[in-house]
Amino acid sequence: MHMCVFVHHATLPFGHRLLDLHRNDVGACLRRYVRPRIALAGDAAHKVHPLAGQGLNLGIGDARELSALVMRQHELGLDVGDVHTLLEYERARQRAVLPVMAATDVFKKLFSTDDAAVAALRGIGVLGTNVLGPLKKQIIRAAMG
Ligand SMILES: Cc1cc2nc3c(=O)[nH]c(=O)nc-3n(C[C@H](O)[C@H](O)[C@H](O)COP(=O)(O)OP(=O)(O)OC[C@H]3O[C@@H](n4cnc5c(N)ncnc54)[C@H](O)[C@@H]3O)c2cc1C
Repeated sequence: MHMCVFVHHATLPFGHRLLDLHRNDVGACLRRYVRPRIALAGDAAHKVHPLAGQGLNLGIGDARELSALVMRQHELGLDVGDVHTLLEYERARQRAVLPVMAATDVFKKLFSTDDAAVAALRGIGVLGTNVLGPLKKQIIRAAMG
């Protein structure tokens, strides 16, 4: 296969570090996951704060998307490392990853403040979600990927 999948800390074509691995940085999600013949997956492509418990799920989603594209190109006899194909992967995964990063960012901010008003709103939100069964189920389904 003429393509590398860098699983972690891929650096060279992306600059010294693709992401600041210590931050849950929504902006970082918008950086490139691909270069010609190279695609990043998992934490190398995007870093989500562990509080969401979503990092592995997102990485599995990356692998599923990328392998489907590679199979399609291969079956059509086309170049699997073509950057336009890899950009399809990048767009699809950013559509999936960005909402998770944004939601995680909001949760992190909500739960890391001592502000009484925010704490009260947070309590109402948690209580409301717990009471509204269908909403709770939808959140659980989304979290399960
Ligand atoms: C405390 C905590 C709790 C978490 N809980 C959850 C959860 O509940 N659910 C969930 O979905 N996700 C969770 N995550 C996130 C999840 O663990 C990661 O998103 C996931 O492991 C990323 O997988 P990866 O393969 O991209 O990277 P990694 O798991 O980091 O694997 C990268 C591998 O590459 C190796 N490596 C690094 N550099 C090199 C090199 N130069 N040469 C060769 N090998 C190298 C490393 O040793 C490592 O084995 C949690 C993370 C943390 C920190």
